[in-house]
Amino acid sequence: MIPTFEAVNPVKIIFGSGTFARLDSVLSEAAVRSTVIVTLPYFLSQAEELLKKNKIYSGIFCGIRENPQLADTEKLIDQIRKSDAGAVVAIGGGSVIDGAKFAAALKFADGGAEDYFLRKKPFPARRIPLIAVPTTAGTGSEVTQVSVINRGKEKVTLNDPAFRPYAAIVDSLFTHSLPPKITAITGLDALAHALESVWSKNRTPLTDLYAAESARLIARHLETVLNRPNDADARDGMSYASLLAGLAFAVTKTAAVHACSYPLAELYGLPHGEACALTLSGFIKINNDDRLEKISREAGLGSSAGLAEFVEKIKHKAGLTTSLSGAFPPSLITDAEKHPLSANNPVPVTAELLIELFNSLK
Ligand SMILES: [Zn+2]
Repeated sequence: MIPTFEAVNPVKIIFGSGTFARLDSVLSEAAVRSTVIVTLPYFLSQAEELLKKNKIYSGIFCGIRENPQLADTEKLIDQIRKSDAGAVVAIGGGSVIDGAKFAAALKFADGGAEDYFLRKKPFPARRIPLIAVPTTAGTGSEVTQVSVINRGKEKVTLNDPAFRPYAAIVDSLFTHSLPPKITAITGLDALAHALESVWSKNRTPLTDLYAAESARLIARHLETVLNRPNDADARDGMSYASLLAGLAFAVTKTAAVHACSYPLAELYGLPHGEACALTLSGFIKINNDDRLEKISREAGLGSSAGLAEFVEKIKHKAGLTTSLSGAFPPSLITDAEKHPLSANNPVPVTAELLIELFNSLK
């Protein structure tokens, strides 16, 4: 019997190589007259082209750093308010999209952004639309209502319908120029999103479909894009896999791999996806069950042991961190154990389990 479930994802999705060209029509469909482009210095020339081409683009903001800071978003909110922008277009990775989500939700807010960051006030019902254009194949943020914002070392995961993008334009052409290391880090982040969705206590028949197909696509295409960065078919496959994983974990949330990744990223200065990749094969072994064996077989990896080997192979190939040096601080265990996402893991995440896992990484 099929279990009862609910499903809501109101984000308009435009997927496919070359679909970024549809941005103008998405904005006019949303009746937008002025928009700020939020992007990375790497895409500045593309953003400037848009500015020259169409007066709907009223400004560019390039100040969202990796692990977006509250102060960065406050500057963006200021620019949005001064320019009277009626929409935000975010062209970048997860950090850019998360920062832009937070700012777009606060265009009409009363008072400072800090009150909302601290969840002292509910997000206003009135906001401006966000069009999310991921430039990596990994984040999934373009279809979730999650925004992770930092204040110094304090990291807050905000989950609110106010962060749902109006539209996601997923164009794999952006990913062709990603260096191998970022391709591997973001690709393994997407695999973590897919597998944690498979393991999640909130999984549904629909999320299982998305997540399993995502994992199969990543197994098929991730090594290819490392070997041949301009392989359009494989890049497209990775972008689709990332989108599917995003649709899955938008419902299920992630689990123990992400719970561990936050203290690991902070303590060892690792990018988000690299911190996830560090414990991914460990949790493949810990959470193994018949479903994971089946997904691994269908992915052409033989078994879940083959899936864990695949993760390690990608990490070695791309030069990612595979071990922790020296003794790890007790806060790594306590922070990972008490993180709310640990409760979403099918196997209880105890201090003993984490100590064994982190010891195996030495
Ligand atoms: Zn992630």
